[in-house]
Amino acid sequence: MTSVQVKIQSFETARPAPGAATSPAAGGSCTPELAVSPWNFDAGSPAYGPGSSMEDVAPADTPRQGVIPEEYRLADDAELGGRIRRAKEQLGEDLVVLGHFYQRDEVVEHADFVGDSFQLANAALSREDAKYIVFCGVHFMAETADILSRDDQAVVLPNLAAGCSMADMADSSSVEECWEQLMELYADEDDDGRAAVVPVTYMNSSAALKGFVGRNGGIVCTSSNAATVLEWAFERGRRVLFFPDQHLGRNTAKAMGVPLEAMPMWNPRAALGGNDEQTLRDARVILWHGFCSVHKRFTVEQIEGARAQFPEVQVIVHPECPMPVVDAADAAGSTDFIRKAVAAATEPSVFAIGTEVNMVNRLADEYPQHTIFCLDPVVCPCSTMYRIHPGYLAWVLEELVAGRVVNRITVDEGTTAHAKVALQRMLDAKP
Ligand code: SF4
Repeated sequence: MTSVQVKIQSFETARPAPGAATSPAAGGSCTPELAVSPWNFDAGSPAYGPGSSMEDVAPADTPRQGVIPEEYRLADDAELGGRIRRAKEQLGEDLVVLGHFYQRDEVVEHADFVGDSFQLANAALSREDAKYIVFCGVHFMAETADILSRDDQAVVLPNLAAGCSMADMADSSSVEECWEQLMELYADEDDDGRAAVVPVTYMNSSAALKGFVGRNGGIVCTSSNAATVLEWAFERGRRVLFFPDQHLGRNTAKAMGVPLEAMPMWNPRAALGGNDEQTLRDARVILWHGFCSVHKRFTVEQIEGARAQFPEVQVIVHPECPMPVVDAADAAGSTDFIRKAVAAATEPSVFAIGTEVNMVNRLADEYPQHTIFCLDPVVCPCSTMYRIHPGYLAWVLEELVAGRVVNRITVDEGTTAHAKVALQRMLDAKP
C-alpha cells in the first residue's frame, strides 16, 4: 500500500480570505485570530477567545494577562525563536521548559519535555537543579507542577489567561454547595463503614478542587487510570461524585458496567443538581456538568464519514469525547494511549483521531508512513492552549534572565497539602 500523509491545515495558516468575517456570529467559533495575536484578547477580556471554548462562560475571577511589551508583540517567529534559544542557553540548568501535547509547534520546539499534564509535572521533578519550571500548558497544569515541586522552585505560566474552560466549570463555591446538599441528603443512611459518596476529580481541575477531594476522602484520576481510580472509590464508598468532565466519568463507569440510569448529572445551577432525592440515592456515579469544548466537537457523523472514505480506518478517540462517539470508535484512550497505538502499527495504516489537532498534526509528521487525520474537519484547537504564543515565552524567559520572575503560579500551603494526599492516593491505587 502506498503511504499517504494527510496534511491538516493548521490554525495559523487557516487565515480568513481578505475581507472575510471572523466574528463568532459570522464566522463560527474557529477563527485564526487567537493564534496570530493573542494579546488582543488578553487586555481586559475575561473570555476564552476564539477557538473551541469561546462560547463557554468564563468565571469572573479568570486570571487576566497584562499586555506584554511591544517588542514581543511585533517580533516575527524567527526573531522570537532566536531570543527564546538565547535565553534558554543563558539560564542553562536553572530552567526546564515543559510543553503539553496540545501546544502549538512553534512553542513545543523549545520544550525540554513534551507530554500530558501529569507526565510533565513528573518530568519537572527529574530536573532537581531547575530553579524555574516554565509550563507551556494551561493554568491547572502549572498548579499541579507547583504542588509537586519544591518550594524553592518557581513555576511560571507564560500567559496567565491560559486557563481551561473544563476546569473552570467546577468552581469551589459550586462544589462546596453540592457537597453540603449531598451530605444532608445522605445523612440518614445506615452506617456500613463506607462513605456515602467519594469525590473523584480529573487531573484537569483546579488545585482548589484537588484540595477539596483530598480533604474529603477523595482521589484524583487521569484519563489513563480513571477505571482503577473508580474501583478504588467504589471500595470505599457507596457512590462517586465525579468532577469536572461528565464524559470521562460516564465513558469510564459505563465500561465498568455501571448502568446509565445510575449516573445522574449534577447541574450546579439547580437545587439537588436538577435531580430528585431518589435518583441521587440510587446513584452510583454523580457526574458534574462539565465538558471539554475541544472534545465535544467530535461526532458519530464524522466517524461515519471517515469510514466511508477509508473503510480500513482505525478510529481512536479521547475519552473526553461524548459517549456515542466513544461507542462508535474502535478504541478510546488518553493522549499517551493514542500515541502508543499509532507507534505500535507496523504496517502503513489509516488513523482517524479524535483529539486536539496540534497533537494529531504532530503524529502525522512523526509517522509519515501512515495516513493520520483529525476527525474534526474544521480546525478548531483549544482556545486557551493557544494563549501561549512564542512572544509570551520569549518575554518570561528574558525576564528570568534579568532576574525577575513574572507570571509565577503558586498554590497555598493548605491546598497543596490536601491536594498531595489526593494525588498520592491516585499513585497508590493499583489495578
Ligand atoms: S483541551 Fe479541553 S480539557 Fe484540555 S486544556 Fe483545552 S479545554 Fe481544557
